[in-house]
Amino acid sequence: MSESRLKPGVVTGEAYKTLINAAKSGGYALPAVNVTGTNTINAVMEAAAKAESDIIIQLSNSGGQFYAGRGIADGFKAKVLGSVAAAHHVHLLAEHYGICVAMHTDHANRALIPWIEALLDEGEKYYEQYGKPLYSSHMLDLSADPIDFNLSESARILERMTKIDMSLEIELGVTGGEEDGIGSDFEEAADNSKLYTQPEDVLLAYELLNPIGHFSVAASFGNVHGVYKPGNVKLRPEILKNSQALVQRTHSTADNPLHLVFHGGSGSEKTKIHEAVTYGVFKMNIDTDTQFAFSKPVGKFVKENARAFEFQIDPDDGTPYKKLYDPRGYLRVGEEGIVTRLQEACEDLGSKGKSIANG
Ligand SMILES: [Zn+2]
Repeated sequence: MSESRLKPGVVTGEAYKTLINAAKSGGYALPAVNVTGTNTINAVMEAAAKAESDIIIQLSNSGGQFYAGRGIADGFKAKVLGSVAAAHHVHLLAEHYGICVAMHTDHANRALIPWIEALLDEGEKYYEQYGKPLYSSHMLDLSADPIDFNLSESARILERMTKIDMSLEIELGVTGGEEDGIGSDFEEAADNSKLYTQPEDVLLAYELLNPIGHFSVAASFGNVHGVYKPGNVKLRPEILKNSQALVQRTHSTADNPLHLVFHGGSGSEKTKIHEAVTYGVFKMNIDTDTQFAFSKPVGKFVKENARAFEFQIDPDDGTPYKKLYDPRGYLRVGEEGIVTRLQEACEDLGSKGKSIANG
């Protein structure tokens, strides 16, 4: 392998670029898993360590809020504090799992620009102190707005992020389905041409953003958030190929000049996932499938130990249930569910055994 190896832990700036380039040249993509607290974060890092894969840990605005706790009355403040706390948690622990972790935030629409700017305030403070940002990358999803606004606002934010070695993910075209209240209604989106990114828009984005800094593109090729009945989703990964080709042809770049992101990876056909990776997808977002992977074994645990969730001591025979109602018991089986599910994701994406962290 020709690419350089990295120190385990959170990777930002040049190291994040190295990670992306290793994935693209190695023909694999990294799972970007949405998390909501320490259990899900630790499970994702444990899964990556077990798969010997690097990984992307991602927080939505409501994931950040949940991390801070529903008890904080000021919801906006909680979204910021929770996202900062989660990043601190990963900065402290990731290296001990022996893999590289990129920290990312998920969809921020127009209304959530203040959340991103508040996180950049924190990122700048962190950078001043430690010489690296809190997050490797943020996502700005202004795909519901006119393309001019989407691109000019993305450029404005990227100017600021570049100064602290951060990368920006933008969205062109609308990903169907809904994630944490953001996104378009699936039924409505299904017959909407906006569901498919126009390669001309990708070229515009490249020409504006590439001179400013490092960015990635969530392009819509029929992908949908969530899991729907088979047949409802028609993935057209050739849109990614056409976008790459247009930029490459126009600017005489190397192969696959764009860094592409696959949203709505849950429930997708494996062959389409593989095809998308060959077109330069380095990151696939996973949320729905790992939520279910956590919850299913918890449900089984509760069902199998129903008495322990009703009585501290069994009223019939005096059996003490402390070991079973201790939240660590069922939270651990949820964590294990995520660890198992992500082994499959790493295999699907080809990242298994490919960690570039110094062993
Ligand atoms: Zn998404």
